[in-house]
Amino acid sequence: MKGWSWFSPTKVFFGIEAVIQNRQALVQGKKALIVTGAGGSARTNGALDDVCQALSGLGIIWTIFDQVQQNPEVQSARLAALLAWREQVDFVVGVGGGSPLDAAKAIAALAVNDLDDEELFAGQFKQVLPIVAIPTTAGTGSEVTPYSILTYPAINSKKSIASPLLIPRAAFLDPRYTYTLPRDITADTAVDAFSHAFESSLTLKTSPLSRALSYESLRILGPCLRKLADDEKLDSEHRSLLLYASMVAGQVISQTGTSLPHALGYSFTYFKGVPHGRANGLILPAFAAFMASRGQKQVFEILNRSGFANLEEFSLVLKKLTGAAPQLDQDEVKVFVELCSQAKNLANSPVRPDMQDIEDILTAVLQ
Ligand code: NAP
Ligand code: FE
Repeated sequence: MKGWSWFSPTKVFFGIEAVIQNRQALVQGKKALIVTGAGGSARTNGALDDVCQALSGLGIIWTIFDQVQQNPEVQSARLAALLAWREQVDFVVGVGGGSPLDAAKAIAALAVNDLDDEELFAGQFKQVLPIVAIPTTAGTGSEVTPYSILTYPAINSKKSIASPLLIPRAAFLDPRYTYTLPRDITADTAVDAFSHAFESSLTLKTSPLSRALSYESLRILGPCLRKLADDEKLDSEHRSLLLYASMVAGQVISQTGTSLPHALGYSFTYFKGVPHGRANGLILPAFAAFMASRGQKQVFEILNRSGFANLEEFSLVLKKLTGAAPQLDQDEVKVFVELCSQAKNLANSPVRPDMQDIEDILTAVLQ
């Protein structure tokens, strides 16, 4: 067995009323900055109320930044960090989908460090405010990962900050918060979690433990994707399983990173506004076919663990979930390929796709 390491220090609390019942673990200081989305979903799904009730019960004060947009920009994290500094908060609680959670992480770094963009993305900081994460989507796994992914107009793409300091100290996973997710966001985010489990088990950094946890995640997510593709309603047990499986997949990418579908997907999000998980889902079937054609038998193991008979069936289910890809002209194809080829996570693939391979994969996605 080749050598490997594992680091996943987040204290995870899972279950109905996780916040209220474990509220002591929410407290990481004297004053909190609660970071949440601009659409107000954390107010309707009950997460924000639970956090405020838990904090006030313990005599902790807070201030709220509720302006996080989807795919948050670096600049908005800077604005919120200014608020954190002015209000003298000493810990950050992210409540929402991956966007507020990732924003919370960047804010926690920017609030206590004077960093230019380059330093921020290079993770050149030695301290951050303690972070607590409360996911309300079941997809990104950000509640346990060391990543904060921000939209960065300077490079026409999204870029990740990766630092062990950004791993939340505690994560509270209450499936009830996800009951209000509409079908499309449920599907997009489930596909994101699936792509994490899929991509991670096809990287150079896999280990026996990461494989086992990828399979655990795929075992749950495969049948859920099928249900969503068939427009079946998910019951509360499915909601719990989705939230669990996305957290598990988050633990796995924390060790292995992601690969080409994420790298190429960022352009679909940045230039075409395709939601993150859906963007990965558009690319996964072509990526799977490419890896299989290069002798990566692991692809078939992944499909098998997810309950898909073959690549065709897998593609059909994903197509039902993602719909068709937005069309691109030749110049756009060039830009997408160029940006993807520069992504760090390509080096993470056992078969490193070259420019032509990326273009071929993209062409297959666009068909
Ligand atoms: P999101 O961008 O956080 O949210 C998408 C939409 O869902 C927003 O309109 C949001 O509303 C709404 N929403 C959230 N929770 C809801 C609920 N319980 N009920 C109803 N609506 C709800 O989506 P996401 O897919 O979770 O996160 C995507 C981001 O995470 C991307 O930027 C992606 O790059 C990043 N990501 C990070 C990691 C990581 O490891 N850090 C991994 C994968 C992806 P509001 O406006 O109210 O928030
Ligand atoms: Fe993702």
